[in-house]
Amino acid sequence: MKGLKLFRVLGIQISLNYTWFIVFGLVAWSLANGYFPYHYPSLSRPAHWTMGFLGAVFLFLSVLIHELTHSYIAKREGMEVKEIILFIFGGVSQLTKEPDDPGKELRVALGGPISSLILAFLFWVLSKGIFQAPAFALIAGLLNYLAFINLSLAIFNLIPGFPLDGGRVLRAIYWKKSGSLKRGTQIAAESGKWVGTGIILLGLFWLLMGNIFGGIWFVIIGMFLRSAAEGGYQQAVMKGALEGVKVKDVMSRGVISVSPSLRIDELVEDFFLRHKHVTYPVTENDRIVGMITLKRVKEISRDQWAERTVREAMLPVREEILLDPEEEAVDALQRMVRTGEGRLPVVQNGRVVGMITRKDILNLLEIKSDLSG
Ligand SMILES: [Zn+2]
Repeated sequence: MKGLKLFRVLGIQISLNYTWFIVFGLVAWSLANGYFPYHYPSLSRPAHWTMGFLGAVFLFLSVLIHELTHSYIAKREGMEVKEIILFIFGGVSQLTKEPDDPGKELRVALGGPISSLILAFLFWVLSKGIFQAPAFALIAGLLNYLAFINLSLAIFNLIPGFPLDGGRVLRAIYWKKSGSLKRGTQIAAESGKWVGTGIILLGLFWLLMGNIFGGIWFVIIGMFLRSAAEGGYQQAVMKGALEGVKVKDVMSRGVISVSPSLRIDELVEDFFLRHKHVTYPVTENDRIVGMITLKRVKEISRDQWAERTVREAMLPVREEILLDPEEEAVDALQRMVRTGEGRLPVVQNGRVVGMITRKDILNLLEIKSDLSG
């Protein structure tokens, strides 16, 4: 999942998923044309639009605070959080590790909804307390909405379906009971799929009753929840199966590397056509200096192949694509997803000692899951 990088808080990168722009517009529009005119008919159109826009901005900030609370607790519990990606109804905190005991899982999971409840209460108190004069109707209306939306965020996230917060709470409980993270995840994900199906059915029912807008919303939320439960479960199983597997256990040794002074036509003839790999590390005096891929070669027109060398066409080495043999295989897989590279070099003291592909890891996963029945 890619996002637009915004800023850093508490050492965590905050990013926006691109869907947010569409949803932001939709939220502002529906607030300005539906919610606020309905509840505050005496206010003007510009006032409704101002409230709609500010409402969407503060909704964004509320979701951010919810996610930051999860991340803050996770960090205090010793888990590293690199990035928070905000999207439609919440965010995904990119934990580099899963919590290693149910107590931590429970505390991290509950932090978000509790912060939303506190925000709801604060906004409600403010709306009731300070801004009662008619001149403040706009602000009071906005605060009222923010109290309502934060309460909704807390309730929605507490739905007991993994990977929502409520599902994580459920997972922590069953994890504690059964002693097995996998079992806990299975139950919480199963529950998430059922809840998702229930929400879809409710949405369809509303559609039939003529509530088009609410109906469509519910169907979308239900589908989102179902696919999240499915994906979250697979990811958790994968992490479990690859527990303790290191890069050196999966990588292929005896790597074929190429020299930077090689001409492109030689590279194609002697390497791409002969060994059938699509990526080769480029080494000079035993040190990795770059990567050459079939894609890069295809970008060079054929009549240039006899004149150009690998050095001119290769991708320079970036720190983020170099793996250490002692690194976890799960991290290697995450790195592949993040960089979009399916084949990464494994390097020890600057020397290439192996290559690892997505396929290597997935094959191992398949064998492991076959063996475990
Ligand atoms: Zn949450």
